[in-house]
Amino acid sequence: MPRLSKSRLGAYRCPVCSYRDLVVLEPGVERHIIPCAHCETPLDLSTRGAHSLTLAVQIAERLPST
Ligand SMILES: [Zn+2]
Repeated sequence: MPRLSKSRLGAYRCPVCSYRDLVVLEPGVERHIIPCAHCETPLDLSTRGAHSLTLAVQIAERLPST
């Protein structure tokens, strides 16, 4: 597979249902608001630095409208 970007995987754990999953982090994006894959709670994921693959997780009020 060609390496087209510096995307990397970050790990998070849902604080509501304790579900663990990985999310693709786009380069330069510090924050990702995604629904939990298990309970669909909106989660606000933020990186803790370039070398940490564990994400800080907060419950978001809502998903961003796209
Ligand atoms: Zn969950």
